[in-house]
Amino acid sequence: MSNKIIIDPVSQLQRLQIVETTNSCVKKAGGIFNRHFSLLTIDFDLWGKCAGMYQVRGKKPRIRYNPWIFAKYYEESLTNTVTHEVAHYVVDCIWGIRHVKPHGKEWRDTMLAMGVQPVVTGSYDLEGIPTRQYRRYSYKCDCRNHDLTSLRHRKIVEKGAIYRCQLCHSPLKQCAAR
Ligand SMILES: [Zn+2]
Ligand SMILES: [Zn+2]
Repeated sequence: MSNKIIIDPVSQLQRLQIVETTNSCVKKAGGIFNRHFSLLTIDFDLWGKCAGMYQVRGKKPRIRYNPWIFAKYYEESLTNTVTHEVAHYVVDCIWGIRHVKPHGKEWRDTMLAMGVQPVVTGSYDLEGIPTRQYRRYSYKCDCRNHDLTSLRHRKIVEKGAIYRCQLCHSPLKQCAAR
């Protein structure tokens, strides 16, 4: 059982779609609550059993998504997880995150106002989803940096596999060690 298959995280194009959906969800909330919410930072660096997380560091809010859970439950995550995390952000902006319960009345009312049932699930079947952080390898193409799993890295080094960037289609090359 040591040879577990890890599913591929969401693609670059899916990430763009998730960022766009999150941004339009923030704008939609602005219309509903009749106030301006700034767009926030979105990262895909969450792993383990949570699909998303709203976090404030210093004064900077950000949403972290789990790229494996999004890959496995794409449509569902695009609606439920995105609205779930944006609702945390909206609650933070209006009431202040420290003054209310995480999934309390304010959050539930916000979810309903956004048209999504306020269900806290977190009961995903995690098969194929890494539950600890795997070592990542830095690669780059002609347009950006890529983090590769050790599985892909090994395929390149040991088997001469070639992976191409989905945006610019140039082959990925390993960055010099940092
Ligand atoms: Zn939550
Ligand atoms: Zn590229």
